[in-house]
Amino acid sequence: MNTEVIARAAKAQSGRSRIVVRLLLVTLAAGLVFSILSTLVRGGFAYVEERDAIQAELLQLRDIVQPALTKAIWEMDRASVAVHLDSAARLPALGRIAVTLRMADTAPEVHVRDRTGWTRDETLPVLRRPLTYSPYAGASEIVGELEIFADGRELQARLYREIIVIFITQLVQSLLLAGFVMWMFNRTVTRHVRDVAAHLDALSAKTLSRKLALRDKLYHNDELDQLAGGVNELQDRLAAHLGQLAQYEGEISRHRDHLAELVGERTRALEAANRKLDELSRRDALTALPNRRHFDECKDIEFRRALRTGQPLSLLLCDIDDFKRFNDTYGHGAGDDCLRQVGEVLASCFMRAGDVAARVGGEEFAVLLPGLNAAEARAHAEHLRAQVFALGIAHEASSAADRVTVSVGVAALVPAQMRDFDALYHCADVALYGAKRAGRNRVECWKGEDRCDAGLPS
Ligand code: GH3
Ligand code: MG
Ligand code: MG
Repeated sequence: MNTEVIARAAKAQSGRSRIVVRLLLVTLAAGLVFSILSTLVRGGFAYVEERDAIQAELLQLRDIVQPALTKAIWEMDRASVAVHLDSAARLPALGRIAVTLRMADTAPEVHVRDRTGWTRDETLPVLRRPLTYSPYAGASEIVGELEIFADGRELQARLYREIIVIFITQLVQSLLLAGFVMWMFNRTVTRHVRDVAAHLDALSAKTLSRKLALRDKLYHNDELDQLAGGVNELQDRLAAHLGQLAQYEGEISRHRDHLAELVGERTRALEAANRKLDELSRRDALTALPNRRHFDECKDIEFRRALRTGQPLSLLLCDIDDFKRFNDTYGHGAGDDCLRQVGEVLASCFMRAGDVAARVGGEEFAVLLPGLNAAEARAHAEHLRAQVFALGIAHEASSAADRVTVSVGVAALVPAQMRDFDALYHCADVALYGAKRAGRNRVECWKGEDRCDAGLPS
C-alpha cells in the first residue's frame, strides 16, 4: 500500500470517527433534553400527587385526633389537649395544628403547635373543622374548632426526592436507549458502510472480479443490499468496459504491427524500385551501357583518384563513322540495331573492374580506363576498333570501308598539363578529330603524349 492510499484510509478513518462521536454527542444531548422535559412533565404530576397525599394524610390525622380532642375539650382537660396536639404535631406533613376552645363566659382559648420554621403557604390546603361533642344521643354542642395546616417544606422535600428519582430514571433510560440505538446503528449500518469503503479502497483493475459481500447482516433486501448490488453491477460494467478496451488495444496493436510490416514491405519495395530507377537512370536504354550521367559521375571520381594515387588514367572517345549515311541508307531501325551491336562490343572489350564504357552521345562512346597508360589504352582502342570491324555490318555508303567502322581518339592523363577532366576529354576529342580527318576507321592518340604517336593502322 503506498503513502497516498494510507493517507486516504487514515482520512477516511478519522472521518468515520467524527461521525460516530458526533452521533454519540447528539444522542446524549437529545437524551438529556428528553430527560429534562420528561422530568418537568412528570414532576408536575408528582406535585399534584404529593399534594393530594399530604392532604390525605392531614385528613387522616384530623379524623384520628378529632374525637379525642373534642372529648378532652368537653372535659376541660387541657393536659390531654396538649398531649393530643403534641402527638399530632409529630406528623411530618403537618406545619401547624391549632385548636380553639370556646368558653361560655370567657374569650376563646387557642392552643397551637407549629413546626419549627414553618410559614404559611397559601397554595397548600387548610383543614378547618368545628369540634362538635354529643354528650348524649340527639344532642350536640360545638366546643371548639380545629385547624390543620400542611408544611410546604415537606411537600418540597418529597417533590425533590421524586424529581431526582424521575430524572435519574429518565437519564438512565435515555442513555440505555441511546447506547442501544448506537449499537444497532453500528451493527446494521456503520460496519457495513465501513466494509463497503474498505472494499472500494482495495479495488483495482485486477480485483474487479472480487464481489462485495456484506457480512452478518441482520436484515436483508434493505438499502445496504441495494448499495452492494449497485457496487457489484458497477464493477461488472467496469470489468466489461476494461475488457473491451484491452481487446481494442490488442486489435490496434495488431493493426499497428501489420501496418508497420506493410510500411516496411512498401519501403523495401520502394527502395528496390528507387535503386532500379537509379540504375536505369544511369543506363542507356538502347545499348544497356552506362549513359552520360553515369559517365559524368565516374569521370571526376576517377580523375581525382588518379591525381591522388599517381596511377595512370586514359580515356577513349569512340565514334561510328559516317553513321548519318548509314541511317540514310538502311533506315533508323537498322541504325539502332547497329548501335546495339557496337554497344555489345564495347561491353565485352572493357570488362575490368573500374572500366567505364558509356554511350555519351548519339553514336559516340567514351571509355574510362583507370590504371592504363596511353600505350595500353591505345592497344585496347585498337582491339575495340578491330572488334567493330569484325562485326562486318555492311555500310556501303561509308567513306572508310565496306562496313561499319569506328574512329577512336585516345588521351592519357598528364597531371602537369591537365587541371581537370574536361582537359583530358578535350585531348581525346582532338585525337578523335585527328582520326576522322586522317580517314576514319583508325585510332589516334593525343599528340601531346610522347608514347602516343604511333602510326595509324589501315
Ligand atoms: P562522322 O563519321 O564524321 O562521325 O559522320 P557521322 O555521319 O557519323 O556524324 P554526324 O554527326 O554527321 O551524324 C551522326 C548521326 O547519328 C546523325 C543521327 O541521325 C545519328 N544518330 C544519333 N543518334 C542516333 C540513334 O539513337 N539512332 C539512330 N539510328 N541514329 C542516331
Ligand atoms: Mg559523332
Ligand atoms: Mg559519327
